[in-house]
Amino acid sequence: MASELQNLALARSLLDRAAHLRTSDQTLDELFAKAKIFQVNQGKFSWSDGGSQSNQSGQANQLAQPNQNKSDSSLSGLIYLEPDSAQIKSPEFAASVAERFFLGLAPNGQPFFAINAPFPQGTENLVSLREVGTLLNDLEIGAVMHAVALANWHDVHPRCARCGEPTISILGGSTRKCPTCEAEHYPRTDSAVIVLVRDRDDRILLGRQKIWPAKRFSTFAGFLEPGESLEACVVREVAEEAGVSLSEIKYLGSQPWPFPASIMLSFTAVTDNPEAAEADGEEIEAIRWYTREEIAADIASGELLLPPGISIARRMIELWYGQPLEGVEAWR
Ligand SMILES: [Zn+2]
Repeated sequence: MASELQNLALARSLLDRAAHLRTSDQTLDELFAKAKIFQVNQGKFSWSDGGSQSNQSGQANQLAQPNQNKSDSSLSGLIYLEPDSAQIKSPEFAASVAERFFLGLAPNGQPFFAINAPFPQGTENLVSLREVGTLLNDLEIGAVMHAVALANWHDVHPRCARCGEPTISILGGSTRKCPTCEAEHYPRTDSAVIVLVRDRDDRILLGRQKIWPAKRFSTFAGFLEPGESLEACVVREVAEEAGVSLSEIKYLGSQPWPFPASIMLSFTAVTDNPEAAEADGEEIEAIRWYTREEIAADIASGELLLPPGISIARRMIELWYGQPLEGVEAWR
């Protein structure tokens, strides 16, 4: 994949979504019977971080340890269910089989499915992509990203947006259909731009949102509005939040961000009026211009907390810096 940005933790998928296999329920049943299946709910999934734990039902197939070499196809701590397990055959699960998601095929043909159903109360070792996204291998990251994003959408779209009647999941979970008015509904992804602003001296401008942990600064971001081009959105968001005008807008890459339903579209741009930079005081409460020397010094002194390594913002800042930056990560 051509991207200026390297090592985007959540954009490493090797899974073939194989959309042509979604149309036959019989095909899906056959694939399900030999699939790797995991359960997702509310952005969480089961994880084994030691190999000694098993999940609540004892039905889980214990697999390998979290792996350090994330780029190979060895398995991480993601816990899978056996296709013929008692848990899947239980009435609770049977009722949720309509919410099984066909996620795609591995390069070796292995099908991957997820089931979106509540975990039994008290289930331990539930984790989120924010916590273990970097530990999943390149195959599993695609499967889990697909599953979490789909589940987030299904959970809040139980009814038809046209007539208000209940809808059902069809085509392996890729679509919902209204049996009453026949309308089909497709998962939505919210586009957000994220911008690395530079000046002619090759400094970068970072801003700080009020809701972030103390000392956290990052690049500027905002949602695309209806009828707006990505370039216009880049210009508008940065003008609103930091008061500078932009030119030389260049696309850098993208990373899905299913918290709950975004994709981050990354751009770099140049401003010719760096002196005009000013926080809007609403979303952004402070801004700072950084040279490379200044950013290294502020990280070292603890005066600056960078966004986490799983975020595209961190990779954008490192792309400008020229190498990975160490330092404490701050969530949100
Ligand atoms: Zn309807």
